[in-house]
Amino acid sequence: MPQTEIIKINAAEILDSRGNPTVLCKVTLASGACGTASVPSGASTGKFEAHEKRDGGVRFGGRGVSEVCKRIEEELFEALRGKDAANQRLIDGALIRADGAPDRSNYGANALLAVSLACARAAAKEYRMPLYRYLGGIYGTHMPVPMMNVLNGGAHADNNVDIQEFMLVPIGAKSFRDGVQACAEIYAHLRALLRKEGYSASVGDEGGFAPDLKSDEEAIALLCEAIEGAGYGTDEVKIALDVAASEWAQGENYVMRKSGESYSAEALAEKFRLLAEKYPILSIEDPVGEEDTAAWQKITADMGGKIMLVGDDLFVTDAHRIAELSSQKCANSVLIKPNQRGTLSETIAALQFAKKAGYKTIVSHRSGDTEDAFIADLAVAANADFIKAGAPARGERVAKYNRLLEIEQELCFL
Ligand code: PGA
Ligand code: ZN
Repeated sequence: MPQTEIIKINAAEILDSRGNPTVLCKVTLASGACGTASVPSGASTGKFEAHEKRDGGVRFGGRGVSEVCKRIEEELFEALRGKDAANQRLIDGALIRADGAPDRSNYGANALLAVSLACARAAAKEYRMPLYRYLGGIYGTHMPVPMMNVLNGGAHADNNVDIQEFMLVPIGAKSFRDGVQACAEIYAHLRALLRKEGYSASVGDEGGFAPDLKSDEEAIALLCEAIEGAGYGTDEVKIALDVAASEWAQGENYVMRKSGESYSAEALAEKFRLLAEKYPILSIEDPVGEEDTAAWQKITADMGGKIMLVGDDLFVTDAHRIAELSSQKCANSVLIKPNQRGTLSETIAALQFAKKAGYKTIVSHRSGDTEDAFIADLAVAANADFIKAGAPARGERVAKYNRLLEIEQELCFL
């Protein structure tokens, strides 16, 4: 008989990929099996995201989490002691009740998520199953298509590019492995191309290059050139953008942080319509602001039949927001980031609501991340359409792709 009662919870302050503290949690079960998980942290966080708890004070400029860890070990452990780690909804319900605040401001979504994910890992260990199979059973077998962020701007890079992410999407690849190969080859080609043009090939927070360019449009043109230069066609490898437009919202208008260019919502939507006409763009994330429902409805009506319009800051992985805003015909795809809500059960509910609305799903990392590849297993378990995990470079990014390569190989033994 598996013994999945929780007997101990440890938590430790570790570092994320930006050098900021984050939470690592280890859950031990009565059988002795244990599971660990660490949580990521965003830079362009949405207004409606759950609260991320920090210690304040002088350590790490106020960003420490040692108090957060102490409260996990003492108070959250008390809330979960003896509970069945294999009953994820029971665990997550207890975490949500212990916090008590709708925005998770008591313990923080970072604390809750670390415990929630570590419980799932511990239970998977006890059942001797790979995590994706524990989460998805025999139904979760679909490999996501990577969305690889190869050129960074916005809040993720110290360059003059305003759009936050320029991604490669190998939709024509026959397997995940082939898709990774295509993206890595194009990434190498892009590096050479940037150097040839006299641009910097240093990288931003998500491992994409972060050159100063003449315009944001030039980034798209460079990606197209790199795709073709590496021997691929723009019909098999497409481009996705994450505009992160909520970062630019100022009253009625959108003011780009770097160029200072100002747009009305209509002018911004028109800019993207023209770009999507001119370039092989598959998907645009957060093209308008998180609070601009009318602009979302308009852009969805105008462009939603042709390309993916992805809500990140718009939905913040909140099943209720997804149900409400999809009924109002905002966006046609949902970004899923577990730390935007704070528990695994709510993340799964968000995935289910997105699918029920007929929306595409993209499981995503954060710009500050760790080597934890939980989202790779989650994407397969949930049969998500895509995974967004940064460039094919930097350990914390590559960890997710490498885990998926391993999973694909296991799933191929049919
Ligand atoms: P963040 O950015 O992790 O800095 O919030 C990622 C995104 O906007 O998709
Ligand atoms: Zn985003």
